[in-house]
Amino acid sequence: MFNLSDPAVIKDILSRHGFTFSKRLGQNFLINPSVCPRIAELGGAGEGFGIIEIGPGIGVLTNELCARADKVVAIELDSRLLPILGETLAEHKNLKIINADVLDVDLKKLIDDEFSGLRVAVCANLPYYITSPIVMKLLEDRLAIESITTMVQKEAAERLCAPVGSREAGAVTVAVDYFSEAERLFNVSRGSFMPQPNVDSAVIRLNIRKNTPEVSDEKLFFKIVRGIFTLRRKTVLNALSGSMGIEKSQAEEILRAAGIDSGKRPEQLKMNELIALCGAFGKEGRED
Ligand code: SAM
Repeated sequence: MFNLSDPAVIKDILSRHGFTFSKRLGQNFLINPSVCPRIAELGGAGEGFGIIEIGPGIGVLTNELCARADKVVAIELDSRLLPILGETLAEHKNLKIINADVLDVDLKKLIDDEFSGLRVAVCANLPYYITSPIVMKLLEDRLAIESITTMVQKEAAERLCAPVGSREAGAVTVAVDYFSEAERLFNVSRGSFMPQPNVDSAVIRLNIRKNTPEVSDEKLFFKIVRGIFTLRRKTVLNALSGSMGIEKSQAEEILRAAGIDSGKRPEQLKMNELIALCGAFGKEGRED
């Protein structure tokens, strides 16, 4: 059994395997021994659960997940880590490692194939360069999962967990709030990682909603949200006409029908206003 939080142990394993960290793949491994047990506990890893882990690294979090959950499937892109994981996690018979880019994995099929009869949750210390695309994929795929508990960069935690309608909110915030209830769990200092990143981190949990808000057309809803948030500091009138390619007079008509003050900024709109905007656009904007 390896102590994967001990820098000397990590250095020894990595040098035996000739492994060097890839900055490009966001490889900052956790060395603070208190963090992984907390992520595993708060992430729901326990009896009756199957856990999907994204980016196991050398297996420090995986180890805690395997000790608690019925089954763990860990998806790691860097094939150089596979022989290392084979060594560090050899004792766990309830673990499957998949060597792939998580963005290419059919997670619906994975859940059907691997977790029959189990409740499912996602736990991860995500690679920061693709936090948003991964979170969006996990949410938009409408997976049969209960929660996503993950370490993210502190600024990403602020954005993901911001109230819709606040200055920190972005298109990803709207998607998070639409599909889940976001909770910020605890902060993690940069000294908890090897190598040490230039940013602090936080662990968040997205509790997946059983029922998402009712929108007239979900595809159109997210198209409008993504569009207007690219022009978030403009007025919603300019952002709507600019991003959706419609005349200002038509945008004005849509905003009036939705009951939205056209001088507001997109980032100031609440969820109910965004939903109303989608409904009015569908009627007035004649989206084909
Ligand atoms: N879980 C480990 C820990 O906490 O120490 C490692 C976390 S490290 C921040 C991110 C991990 O994600 C790395 O192992 C990296 O190789 C892996 N990774 C990066 N991009 C990935 C992708 N697209 N799909 C799957 N894994 C990826």
